[in-house]
Amino acid sequence: MTEPTHGLAHELAHCTLTQLGDLLDRREVSAVELARCYLDRIERHRALNAFLDVRPEITLGQARAADERRARGERGALLGIPIAHKDVFVTRDWNTTAASRMLEGYRSSFDATVVDALAQAGMVSLGKLNCDEFAMGSSNENSAYGPVRNPWDHGAVPGGSSGGSSAAVAARLAPVATATDTGGSIREPAAFTGVTGTKPTYGRPSRWGMIAFASSLDTAGLLTQTAEDCARVFNAMLGFDPKDSTSIDRPTEDYTRFLGAELDGVRVGVPKEFFADGLEPEVEAAVRTAIGELERQGAKLVEVSLPSAALGIPVYYVVASAEASSNLSRYDGVRYGRRAEAYGDLLDMMRKTRAQGFGAEVKRRILVGTYVLSHGYYDAYFLQASKVRRVIAEEFRQAFAACDVIAGPVTGGVAFGFGEKSADPVAMYLSDLYTVPGSLAGIPAMSVPCGFGRAGRPIGLQLMANHFDEARMLGVAHRYQQATDWHARVPAGV
Ligand code: GLN
Repeated sequence: MTEPTHGLAHELAHCTLTQLGDLLDRREVSAVELARCYLDRIERHRALNAFLDVRPEITLGQARAADERRARGERGALLGIPIAHKDVFVTRDWNTTAASRMLEGYRSSFDATVVDALAQAGMVSLGKLNCDEFAMGSSNENSAYGPVRNPWDHGAVPGGSSGGSSAAVAARLAPVATATDTGGSIREPAAFTGVTGTKPTYGRPSRWGMIAFASSLDTAGLLTQTAEDCARVFNAMLGFDPKDSTSIDRPTEDYTRFLGAELDGVRVGVPKEFFADGLEPEVEAAVRTAIGELERQGAKLVEVSLPSAALGIPVYYVVASAEASSNLSRYDGVRYGRRAEAYGDLLDMMRKTRAQGFGAEVKRRILVGTYVLSHGYYDAYFLQASKVRRVIAEEFRQAFAACDVIAGPVTGGVAFGFGEKSADPVAMYLSDLYTVPGSLAGIPAMSVPCGFGRAGRPIGLQLMANHFDEARMLGVAHRYQQATDWHARVPAGV
């Protein structure tokens, strides 16, 4: 086959993953051509700073292998489709830094289970994506390698911590990107960049080889153009992993099975606490219009209540920081990555290594986490937060007795500008108001593009479902995307 022309490459990049799969099946394009098309776009959009490590020769090798599998008659929805991975998934062929100086140049000896499963399915990796350092942040401004720009407005943040993933999919530098969500890091960037971002049930995707931030919350997921694309990739990505002690041993399922389902009779819960102070009118209007569209298609709206959801922020920042302080103790200058160059004794080496290797936000979390776990404060903070976490989960359980999915905003406002919140950690933490409750409960949740606000910046609709009900949630999102075209809009210059 001939090299795709510039025009064809442009058209290819605007296809969904599902459409690319059809083109590969019909042999209208090869995996190598697809890989070249995206590598070329990544190069041309370097100003976004979405990628941290790109190695064309390895990508093209994987693409050639996918073409050979197809030539031998093998078929598969993902065989030959490009993907890019957030830099918290360890990879053998690309560096893994978690966007930290601490792991600069670090190379893992194995691939994360998620990366491996997708490679087995024939996906071709385009490389590693920028993010907030150790996935701590809501704007990508905490990356040690510079912030990512929002493709809709280069003066706005792309969201965080998965800002490289969201910007890459929004700018069509990859048809799909992996990401991780601990308190909203998939949904908030998806909302800020007008793409679809989905976090499955905690424990459904493997955490093996995912650099740990807060182990009881960390969940792998995806940024895609559509819910349909997400369902197809979930089919290969989610499943039991004996190497992860919190992985859930349940039979595999087909996440596309609700894509044809009508909304007739589906009960959509609208939590009244999600439409209170802090929600900007333009976001409220877009989200209410989207919920109205679900109703127009036959869904039944029910009011639900999550009275403790507002406590999500303090609870999350106690629990997540506590777990982070423990998880990050492994970066001691001995086992992984960086070691300070000049030091005295062992303690001095560790001190200097950690002082030089970690950025300000990571240090802040380690300090807060160590404090709330220390003797005398454990009961007052960590234990108390754990109890309230239980209450929040219980409130969701009760809400799901009355509805099938919950709908609401993802963020209070559209993407903010660089520097607008970075000097005030509490203002930054408040961006997670609507996303942390679902994380604390461990339920599946997603952001679906539903409009635009100030300065043409995108708005997201959040959908949440009960544990293990991600297929139904994706089905509702799919119906919405069949009736609207917000997800198909692209930024100027893309
Ligand atoms: N913004 C939240 C934080 O900084 C969530 C991060 C995440 O989900 N990884 O902790």
